[in-house]
Amino acid sequence: MKAIHPRWRDWRWQMQHRIRTVEELERFVRLSEDERAALDRCRPYFRWAITPYYAALMDPEDPSCPVRRQVVPRLAELDDPIGLDQEDPLQEVAHSPVKNLIHNYRDRVAFCVTAECALYCRYCLRKRMVGDPAFFLRRSEVEEAIAYIAAHPEIRDVLLTGGDPLSLGDEALQMLVSRLRAIPHVELIRLGTRYPVTLPYRITEELLSRLAPYHPIWVNTHFNCAREITPDAAEAVDRLLRYGFPVGNQTVLLRGINDTPEAMRALLEGLVRIRVRPYYLYQAQLIGGTAHFRTSIERGLWIMRQLQGRTTGFALPRYVLDTPFGKVPLTRDYILGRAGDYVVVESYDGRIWMEYNPLPEEDRDLPVKLPEIEADPSWPAYVRPAGTQPASPSSV
Ligand SMILES: *Cc1c(COP(=O)(O)O)cnc(C)c1O
Ligand code: SF4
Repeated sequence: MKAIHPRWRDWRWQMQHRIRTVEELERFVRLSEDERAALDRCRPYFRWAITPYYAALMDPEDPSCPVRRQVVPRLAELDDPIGLDQEDPLQEVAHSPVKNLIHNYRDRVAFCVTAECALYCRYCLRKRMVGDPAFFLRRSEVEEAIAYIAAHPEIRDVLLTGGDPLSLGDEALQMLVSRLRAIPHVELIRLGTRYPVTLPYRITEELLSRLAPYHPIWVNTHFNCAREITPDAAEAVDRLLRYGFPVGNQTVLLRGINDTPEAMRALLEGLVRIRVRPYYLYQAQLIGGTAHFRTSIERGLWIMRQLQGRTTGFALPRYVLDTPFGKVPLTRDYILGRAGDYVVVESYDGRIWMEYNPLPEEDRDLPVKLPEIEADPSWPAYVRPAGTQPASPSSV
């Protein structure tokens, strides 16, 4: 992209000039009535900010642009049948033995090291904390998390997440990574970061030369549409690869953004062209205020079916549903069937989970049919069928 300010490629300048007002946003796009109203009315529910870099990727005239839909609020956010207060579908808080360390699988943990991101994705799984200025990981809390990992020799894989761990400064990040590397049983360190997509200039030689001594460090980034694959993003990925960080990608299946075989193929093929390996395609979670982004599981299965055998094998991610029992591959092996508005799956260790996932009219004719089954009232679910009790974290 052409630099439109002398410091455009300086990530600090980008962060200092994040777009936070209607007036600033209007320098990039012609806002629709819906967007303008939503910018005001959605503010109490979830903060918004956009980097100038990412804003420049938006179609200035088209509110349905897939880049724009990810970061500009819409009134539909206020109109979610599951309510606006549903914010922890994976029961991450209940799975945190110490603050911000999610220990859900025996051998690996996710460590939320910051609540800051370059920008705020409207469908974010961690809305409950992301962008919250009150969230602040104290030094003592970092120490507690490191002590927990050190005291649990079964933990061989530590995923730094957030928020976005690259929101930390170079020195803080290096300190954290070096402390983890000093724990003998920690084999892998992973960074889950959206900076290559939302602010690729953050991926500096300086940062990478500080982290590379602590390999193996794997990076997973988060591209959702082909429009995000710019020359600047490709350069950031190239830097990561040159410094020895394998780069994978996690995409969220999002209505109107990547929920057709054509859009998904363009994304996946674009990723392998810049040497990013697609890893997971996530079913969108039941986060309050995101109904307009959620799709049926049948639609995801249909998209995967359309791509299988029709593109490079390693361009295909695994389509998964995250649940309080871990990630469940969305294939016929793990899907028991559909029970009305719910899709019933089995986790890797044999536990049953019911995911609220109504099948909209327009998806009824897709050539993917799940077996119809009867729901058992004892099966846990995050959104309960009418008339039954909500599952409490202790019951799952
Ligand atoms: C996704 C996730 C991981 C990592 O899972 P992989 O399948 O190994 O990528 C670890 N912990 C938590 C809590 C997760 O959600
Ligand atoms: S970058 Fe990730 S953590 Fe941050 S707002 Fe987007 S989805 Fe949420």
